[in-house]
Amino acid sequence: MPILALESSCDETAAAICTPEGTLLASRIASQAEIHRRYGGVVPEVASRNHILHVRPLVQEVLEEAGLALGEITAFAATSGPGLVSSLLIGTSMAKALAVAEKKPFLAVNHMEGHLLSPFMGGQGPVRPSVALIVSGGHTMLVQVKSVGEYILLGRTRDDAAGEAFDKVAKMIGLPYPGGPEIDKQARQGNPRAFAFPRSFMDGESLEFSFSGLKTAVLYELPKLNLEDPTVLADVCASVQEAIIEVLVEKLVLAARQTGETLVTVSGGVSCNRGLREKLMARCEKEKLTLLLAKPDLCTDNAGMIAYAASQRFQLGQSSALEADVDPNLALV
Ligand code: ATP
Ligand code: FE
Ligand code: MG
Repeated sequence: MPILALESSCDETAAAICTPEGTLLASRIASQAEIHRRYGGVVPEVASRNHILHVRPLVQEVLEEAGLALGEITAFAATSGPGLVSSLLIGTSMAKALAVAEKKPFLAVNHMEGHLLSPFMGGQGPVRPSVALIVSGGHTMLVQVKSVGEYILLGRTRDDAAGEAFDKVAKMIGLPYPGGPEIDKQARQGNPRAFAFPRSFMDGESLEFSFSGLKTAVLYELPKLNLEDPTVLADVCASVQEAIIEVLVEKLVLAARQTGETLVTVSGGVSCNRGLREKLMARCEKEKLTLLLAKPDLCTDNAGMIAYAASQRFQLGQSSALEADVDPNLALV
């Protein structure tokens, strides 16, 4: 019962084929990061034009990689939000066209549900009660998972997302877009205690996040810093990273304690971060929590997670109308 899914919510065009158990039969990503780097961020019209160029060849490539004919695909899925409207329309239109041509169901998938369920892929399933931390470029959320489709929001960011904080600070200190991986790399050589950057909402029982104060704190520090000095640059990166990951890890542990769940999952682009992964593993072991981390190539945007989320929905007998619209602000909960 393979499902073919497309992801085009932002600047990555991706296609993948996945089994209901979450085994990837094929996955391809055409990244536009090089193109958008010169603008310091994603330009929507440039993104959608590049999706058009990439989407059809990618479908062909994943079918070949999986050794499947189009007729052997059980259903077609695509991300329908949140994201850039003009980008979302490319993937959903292609998936709908394939579904019509092959007389197979179409499934519209919430991009954040893709991230949310990605830790259960590759034999880690089935999806079961847990607390999820989703940390991506546009979202920072703690969600209690009861079952597929039954989610309770425990907390979210009041301003910047964790990935956004990484990217904005990186831009301020002259590192290229996207900044998260760059800070991660620099941080390995730095001292995480060199600067005491703020951690928000850390006293008490709050599961809310805020990262805008961190950005401001770095901004105030900037005139005093010689960023040409590789040690200073590495120390700033390590300290910023530490401030972000300490909050993420502590709030996840707090959410597990508050809900009584013993299984915790972490997904989204920021969950690639090496410092975060190390700290999570150590802290969860100490707290006797079972930790499921999305595989590094499933952390940032990909279509495998969309195919997996679609397959979970499909197994519950769900599909979407061909008239289903895209929604730039589609909510998960
Ligand atoms: P959303 O999923 O909220 O719509 P998005 O799709 O842009 O946003 P993702 O692709 O999941 O987000 O993740 C991208 C983000 O992850 C970027 O902000 C990027 O800087 C960050 N990121 C990627 N790798 C790392 C890393 N190693 N360390 C820290 N941040 C990282
Ligand atoms: Fe994403
Ligand atoms: Mg992205």
